[in-house]
Amino acid sequence: MTSPLRGLSIAVKLPLLIAGLLVVGVAAGVAVTYHTVREAATTATRERLVLVTDQVSGTLTAAATQLRARIRIAARSPAVIAAALHPGVASFRPANAFLRTVKRTDSDVVALELRDRHGVDLLSAGDAAPWSDAGEDSPVLREALARDSVIIGPLRSVASTVIYAVAAPVQAGSTDVGALFGWVRVRSSPDIGRRFHSIIGTGGQVFLGSPRDSVWTDFTARTPAPSAPLTMRPGPFEYDRPGVGATFAMVRTVTGTPWVLLVQSSRDYTPGATARFLRRQLIISGTLLLVLLVGTWFLSRTITHPLTALTTATEAVAAGRFDHRVGTRRRTDELGRLAESFDAMVTEVRMSHERLEARVAERTGELRERNEELEAYGYSLAHDLRAPLRAMQGFSQALLEDYGPRLDDTGRHYAQVVSDSARTMDRMIQDLLSYSRIARSDVTPASVDLRRVVDRARSQVKAASEERSARITVDPELPAVRGHEATLVQVFANLIGNAVKFVPADRVPQVHVSASTDGGRVRVVVEDNGIGIDPKYHERIFRVFERLNGADEFPGTGIGLAIVRKAVEKMGGSVGVESVPGSGSRFRVDLPQACEDANDART
Ligand code: ADP
Repeated sequence: MTSPLRGLSIAVKLPLLIAGLLVVGVAAGVAVTYHTVREAATTATRERLVLVTDQVSGTLTAAATQLRARIRIAARSPAVIAAALHPGVASFRPANAFLRTVKRTDSDVVALELRDRHGVDLLSAGDAAPWSDAGEDSPVLREALARDSVIIGPLRSVASTVIYAVAAPVQAGSTDVGALFGWVRVRSSPDIGRRFHSIIGTGGQVFLGSPRDSVWTDFTARTPAPSAPLTMRPGPFEYDRPGVGATFAMVRTVTGTPWVLLVQSSRDYTPGATARFLRRQLIISGTLLLVLLVGTWFLSRTITHPLTALTTATEAVAAGRFDHRVGTRRRTDELGRLAESFDAMVTEVRMSHERLEARVAERTGELRERNEELEAYGYSLAHDLRAPLRAMQGFSQALLEDYGPRLDDTGRHYAQVVSDSARTMDRMIQDLLSYSRIARSDVTPASVDLRRVVDRARSQVKAASEERSARITVDPELPAVRGHEATLVQVFANLIGNAVKFVPADRVPQVHVSASTDGGRVRVVVEDNGIGIDPKYHERIFRVFERLNGADEFPGTGIGLAIVRKAVEKMGGSVGVESVPGSGSRFRVDLPQACEDANDART
């Protein structure tokens, strides 16, 4: 798998990588902090649950103990005992007055009743009627008499008020003479709820209830039974509260009562201070990340900027532009030193390059001079050779003409061979001289009419083509080329001459000259129906004195194509051939198109 960063420049990759690492680092730091704070908050929640449960159950137990003590004292008062022992108007009045005093001291006590041993009502302080219907009071009474102590009953609810019963035996000596019975309200108000929330947070709840009777209160009002499992456990436990999720809870019985206390708080509840801390942490981390990212960008720029400059300079030097410099920009660190060394190296390379160029130019000049000397020497040598050759030719001819009749056949044949050889050699020297002339001449290119060139070339080979009854055709339209007219005439005279010459004797030579233009170049093709050329000789035939056929079959000196190539190259062109033996040949000459023609073609 290829990395998505592959192919990106370091200037992009470096800040991206550092930014990525920073984001991951900061995110990991925030996550760890968040986790730690949440853990701490959870531990604190559990601890607060235990604290609140202990405090509330302690308060309730103390209140129950006090209530029991007050009721016991009231049940033992002489006025109450007398009223139970001797029921009647005389005993009821002081007893009633006493019970009213007791009721007044505790606002939660809504009614007090004195009953006989069978539970029959003797007298009452406060109106107990609305409460008596709420549930049986006899079980509490029975238990109080049976256990001989003050008993607090389970919670009951009447309308929205939650109350409970309390009963104490009334004894004369050790004999039960009656019972004191009371209804007490569970104190509830929004204030109590607020106080709990201030301790366990707004996510917390405190419930008091009698599970068997499904009567519950949260100290502000009666509530439905909570969904927590009410099994007694020593510490807090976790359960899944419907609609809320993970919840911590703690259950306790209130000593001296049949009531159950439940305190609970959502596991995910984050107290205000913790939430504020996390929010602040997020803002600080975000700001820090932003500052770090900007810093990273600047830092990476200070590294990648000189690297980019170095890369550009290296590319410039690789492209041969030695004048390009990185520039140190007053940096003194490693990158500054690298740039400085690079610039020094480029200066050194440029100087070596210039020294080398100068030396090459000098050597080339020397070589050219030697070549010119050699060519001049060859030229004058060839020139000088022609004088003795002409003498040989003249004397052998004179020998044949003046002394021919006196020579026998062999003598005449020898004289003829000397004459022919001298002529061939003379032609070779002439060809060599014209090759040398072309090689040494400075061709000044001009616009040349190709049609006129071909016509002049044809007239130069007229004798040979008429001798072979050759059919030479030329394209009606020929473009103008850039070149030297006389030289081009020589080129095409050689090519057309060869095309007529290298055709088997029993075949009528057919030659066609055509031309086409392409991208400012003109391609002229001379095509024949001759003997063709084996592809392995396609290069060789353009060298001096390279001939593929014997002089008896096809006469020649082997210099014609060498002249063609040299002349065309001098005019900025090139030559080539396509041919296979027996299927004719296609010689092509590529030349620059004349400017005005090229412009016409473009418009
Ligand atoms: P020459 O014509 O004097 O022999 P050239 O340099 O003109 O010398 O040609 C070199 C050789 O290339 C020729 O000897 C011949 O073998 C071959 N050649 C040149 N032109 C043709 C052609 N049109 N068809 C076949 N062979 C050719």
